[in-house]
Amino acid sequence: MKVCVLPGDGIGPEIVAEAVRVLKSLDLNKLELEEGLIGGGAVDATGTPYPEATKKLTAEADAILLGAVGGPKWDVLARELRPERGLLGIRKDLGLFANLRPAILYPELANASTLKPEVVSGLDILIVRELTGDIYFGQPRGIREENGERVGFNTMVYSESEIRRIGHVAFQAAQKRNKKLCSVDKMNVLETTQLWRDVMIEIAHDYPDVELSHMLVDNAAMQLVKAPKQFDVMVTGNMFGDILSDEASMLTGSIGMLPSASLDANNKGMYEPSHGSAPDIAGQGVANPLATILSVAMLLRYTFGLEEQALRVENAVKKVLAQGYRTGDIYERGTTKVGTKEMGDAVLAALA
Ligand code: NAD
Repeated sequence: MKVCVLPGDGIGPEIVAEAVRVLKSLDLNKLELEEGLIGGGAVDATGTPYPEATKKLTAEADAILLGAVGGPKWDVLARELRPERGLLGIRKDLGLFANLRPAILYPELANASTLKPEVVSGLDILIVRELTGDIYFGQPRGIREENGERVGFNTMVYSESEIRRIGHVAFQAAQKRNKKLCSVDKMNVLETTQLWRDVMIEIAHDYPDVELSHMLVDNAAMQLVKAPKQFDVMVTGNMFGDILSDEASMLTGSIGMLPSASLDANNKGMYEPSHGSAPDIAGQGVANPLATILSVAMLLRYTFGLEEQALRVENAVKKVLAQGYRTGDIYERGTTKVGTKEMGDAVLAALA
């Protein structure tokens, strides 16, 4: 059970330290942790955001636990040296095509959402986004001159095999949850997504226990704010998933709480919080480590198949929220404000 730990920039090292303490406390006897450089810190130390030594670590690991990368210091660099290039490099090298982003709103945090508490309280949805195909990667692409003016063009493209492999990930995720899968497309206008829908219907035969439904992406965007609790698992392509997963995360109002996973076909994965490196609060010991700790739960569940340990970590997080502990981002009057390390201590105590 090799885990490559990449703390990264900004609040990354602070939140990853707490997640690593949680992982170590579980006493998994085959666990091996190795730490590497990624992002801006890697640029400073080696001149590149994704150094060879880190490539070797990520290739050999079963799972990668990442904090976050980036910050104003590196925004001026050439595109290929930007910290985000490190993340794109890992995704590409490891073929991480399935992005899993839960949007969970714990009842104790219902007031953090901009939506009415009754609409979002208890929300628990999982968005499965295809990550390596679609219009973001399709060829040809570019800007050319035509009839005396510039014309921009991109290509939306999905092969049957690409749709099938993300479909299987989504159906299997639904099997582990409430067995409802909504596939999101735009089949009334786009042929690529007509194929998407056809393939989803075909592979549904392999999962008779999962109820498959379909929704057009414009309606899905509306339903997410109107009645988000109707969804269990949603699956969609790269571009629609980019937009819908950010929309869903904002329903919760607490970006410091949301984990994510990016998986390959063998459940090797990179696990990271959905938020960035928060340079505005870095180094102050006030960042919320719970998204990273919940990323550890996803790592245990999806790469190592340790459902029981994953639930232990998730229940420990629920317990500290019920006990009233809050970092600044989710603080409300009447609760106990704590820093990053104290929040880690509270989770460890709840686990014990
Ligand atoms: P951000 O998510 O870092 O921060 C947005 C706001 O949320 C800030 O006010 C921040 O303080 C707060 N916040 C985020 N995480 C928090 C936490 N755990 N606890 C408490 N508050 C938290 O987004 P941004 O400000 O747009 O980006 C900052 C940097 O992060 C940029 O350089 C950006 O490129 C990078 N970024 C990295 C990733 C990644 O590593 N995957 C993702 C998004 C942005």
